[in-house]
Amino acid sequence: MKVPFLDLSLQHRAIRDQALAALTATYDATRFCLGKDVEDFEAAFARTLGYDRTLALNSGTSPLHLAAALAGWGPGDEVIAPPFTFISTVWGISYVGATPVFVDVDEASFLLDPAKIEAAITPRTKGIVAVHLFGLPARMDAILAIARRHGLFVVEDCAQAVGATCGGAPVGSLGDAGTFSFYPTKNLGGCGEGGAFVSRRPELFEKARLLRVHGSGRRYFHDHVGFNFRMDGFQGALLGVKLPHLAGWTARRREIAARYLAGIKLSDTQLPLASLAGDESVWHQFTLRHPRRDALREHLAAREVGTDLIYPVPLHRQACYAGLGYAEGSMPVAERACATCLSLPIFPELTDAQVDHVIASVNAF
Ligand SMILES: *Cc1c(COP(=O)(O)O)cnc(C)c1O
Repeated sequence: MKVPFLDLSLQHRAIRDQALAALTATYDATRFCLGKDVEDFEAAFARTLGYDRTLALNSGTSPLHLAAALAGWGPGDEVIAPPFTFISTVWGISYVGATPVFVDVDEASFLLDPAKIEAAITPRTKGIVAVHLFGLPARMDAILAIARRHGLFVVEDCAQAVGATCGGAPVGSLGDAGTFSFYPTKNLGGCGEGGAFVSRRPELFEKARLLRVHGSGRRYFHDHVGFNFRMDGFQGALLGVKLPHLAGWTARRREIAARYLAGIKLSDTQLPLASLAGDESVWHQFTLRHPRRDALREHLAAREVGTDLIYPVPLHRQACYAGLGYAEGSMPVAERACATCLSLPIFPELTDAQVDHVIASVNAF
């Protein structure tokens, strides 16, 4: 039985008529940049997920850039981030000329370890970018307490955790700013690039709105040096069609994860956490760890089970950050995670039979 790591065609086939009708309406109305479809999606996203307001943007990296600009970070400033995540998490820090300072994750959750943060704080530390990795909410209570003590600006990278909550509040609403990605492979994916910015701070949000469109509230009058981070109309229309399905897709991801957690019995395997402090994952990835990861991956490939390595190299060891001088072994937990992690298929359209085939194949290793 074939189990692809990810097959986006199934989801898009299921909503094809609705999606094409929405895209056709946008086309016919020539609503190509921002406009009604994007505004409707912003309102629906905020209402459905519990935010006061949302800004739709052209990627998931743009809100991280925006957040770094709004935080006022710049050359000489240090910003703390985990090394086990997608590279975009720290791009905003670098784009404004600040320096990422990596703090290791913990063994059980793969998330930024709050116990290791304070040792990394210096007089130059200005902020923290926390990541809700693989759909699992980060320990925001502990992170926010540290941030308050040291006057740090907190960004939540929610690219992998749309729909997740932290102590009952939606992710992204706890720190100073929250960022989302609608890249096609995310839990809520567009047919192209997309992202969103949220902030519980109204004045910050209003400045973000200006920065999104050339720092301008009035056409051809520019109060700030801004960006072109507009979402295109087609993405707004398509995401508006998909959003009502998100809760059902998340529920199915949770079912699949529960099936994996109950069924996988391979010895020496570290299974991912379903929750941390009661905040249930939205399961963007199901990433286990095994000391013979590469052999396990080959074994699964031979049984037609697709897998992925997310992530093979930690950020502090990427070539682009060689200048920061992090030696091998400096972030031991993240490095071990990169060497032993293996992500299994977990998209909502998987059948129970496919999930059971993955489980049986893992257990046969
Ligand atoms: C996908 C992702 C982003 C944003 O990526 P884009 O490709 O720009 O949409 C940021 N952070 C994390 C952790 C991600 O997984």
